[in-house]
Amino acid sequence: MDKQQQIELVKQFSDAYGVPGFEQDVIKLYRDQMAPYGTTTIDGMFNALTARHGNTGDRPVVQMDAHADEVGLMVQAIRPSGLIKFVTLGGWVPTNVPAMRVVVRNKRGEYIPGVVATKPPHFMTAAERNQVPTIAGMSIDVGSVSSEETINDFAIDTGCPIFPDVQCSYDDQHGMFFGKAFDDRVGAAALIDTFDNLKDDQLKVDVVAGLSTQEEVGLRGAYVTARKVDPDLAIVYEGVPADDTFEPDWLSQTRMKGGPMLRDLDTTYIANPNFQQFAADLADELHLPYTRAVRTGGGQNGAAIGYWKGVPTIVVGIPVRYEHTAYNFTALSDFQVSSQLGTEILRRLDKETIESFNRVD
Ligand SMILES: [Zn+2]
Repeated sequence: MDKQQQIELVKQFSDAYGVPGFEQDVIKLYRDQMAPYGTTTIDGMFNALTARHGNTGDRPVVQMDAHADEVGLMVQAIRPSGLIKFVTLGGWVPTNVPAMRVVVRNKRGEYIPGVVATKPPHFMTAAERNQVPTIAGMSIDVGSVSSEETINDFAIDTGCPIFPDVQCSYDDQHGMFFGKAFDDRVGAAALIDTFDNLKDDQLKVDVVAGLSTQEEVGLRGAYVTARKVDPDLAIVYEGVPADDTFEPDWLSQTRMKGGPMLRDLDTTYIANPNFQQFAADLADELHLPYTRAVRTGGGQNGAAIGYWKGVPTIVVGIPVRYEHTAYNFTALSDFQVSSQLGTEILRRLDKETIESFNRVD
């Protein structure tokens, strides 16, 4: 895939709407992009699994994972004023929610623009100005003046999903994307790019790519995909939070333009150390930049897949600034190097190598 195709791919995935449980647009895009490389099936949670062309069925199975969903919101109820009371889907900090532009998918499947509204400053008491806002105290305004209008005319009611509305742009001079949902749409795009890299390769393993859903509400899709794929090994492409804007250099473990982050630890997961070192050694051999990360927070699909029969799993993380807000940065070079590392790992895997990761002596 050339650079221009990679840029377009990341932009399309970033712009697609897909909060947990409502990932259809992202899955549709993924299925169409994957069509040249494999056969995709979709289940009732909208998890998409792509068996690579060339799989034989009698070799070790590698599961490549990324997740389709982004953090978002959902309509809980319509207030008497016509404003929308909502809940969060995934981990938001309340201070990052007000004044965000959103779209609500109404009951007819139309996208209605709106904004997260709070009480105007003119009406706040001194005490209110210093308070941290709560989600329960916020509303979304779509320009309606009554609950009847919101429900009957806008066709918005309980259960409608709400998406951050941001259009992705790419700054060619600095090699930087600016948009939403790079957690984990850069991972989804990397699955496509990796399969494209391998289109003429004869591998020694079968590969199944899984774009799983509902990660942001507890890795739910990946628990299902792991059982279906029943892999012998897994590689997770994840848009991971960059720490280089606030950590000192010596402690920064996920940097923009620093290459993929190989995660040793987070609150859900410990990487298989043999596989992890294999990946790090390979990056060294190929002179690819990377970091390793020990995290005291966060979790990702590697946990859900690893819990299925304890298969060796690593995370190849693509650094993203300001995850779990509507406005993120991510670098094209980090996307490219991550996909390259994943590709080169797959080219080197065989039965013996995979079994060596499970050895204790
Ligand atoms: Zn993620």
